[in-house]
Amino acid sequence: TPDVRPLVAGNWKMNGTGDSLDELRTIVNRPNSAIGGKIDALICVPATLVFRAAQSVSGEALNIGGQDCHAKRSGAHTGDISADMLKDAGASHVIVGHSERRTDHGETDNMINAKARAAWDAGLIAIICIGETEAQREAGSTLGIIGGQLAGSVPDGASASNTIVAYEPIWAIGTGLTPTAADVREVHASIRSTLTRRLGADGERMRILYGGSVKPANAVELLGVENVDGALVGGASLKAADFLAICEAY
Ligand code: PEP
Repeated sequence: TPDVRPLVAGNWKMNGTGDSLDELRTIVNRPNSAIGGKIDALICVPATLVFRAAQSVSGEALNIGGQDCHAKRSGAHTGDISADMLKDAGASHVIVGHSERRTDHGETDNMINAKARAAWDAGLIAIICIGETEAQREAGSTLGIIGGQLAGSVPDGASASNTIVAYEPIWAIGTGLTPTAADVREVHASIRSTLTRRLGADGERMRILYGGSVKPANAVELLGVENVDGALVGGASLKAADFLAICEAY
């Protein structure tokens, strides 16, 4: 998208201990990478690593994010993490509504909407994930599903500076399968027009990331698609070399 600075975001999921911080140091120590120059970069680490990750890349162009937050600021919610806690630990972003959260924890568009608002209240940028299942794609209902998820999970008040949308077809996550560039173009164009209709200029400038089996070998093609403003990368974000190679698509 013209005038939109691309973002390559990693999602480590439930992977990583203290040793993994070396990968972050490798990313920031790579000379002449696109990070901080042509693009922004972010790694969403497990909650246990947010503080150490943020300390270890402090002052560098690499941002650190969380993978989920609770909708409430505090209280009797054993085991949950609030957006304020992530912010306090050094996060700048948080993923909400990842399909694994929707599936494993029964998260609904309404819950994700509340989590995105909690993220904003804490000063975090919300990365709101949407995407269709394989059955929904085969039934031809992808654009309808995406439209419903956008309407339900993107709160009023969303702006290009507080929200990022990630389109992640569920059947492409962790499977090695990807949609064709033409399919990605169609979905991203639909997301763009929905966001622009609802949010005006903010919708025109909001980043729309593609996620689902992005790797060095397909990054140039997928990230070159119109209205693809970066990637959300799972498996290939675990190794600095792969993450950096994806960033080299720019
Ligand atoms: C993800 O977890 O958001 C993701 C896209 O995973 P992968 O890149 O491994 O498909």
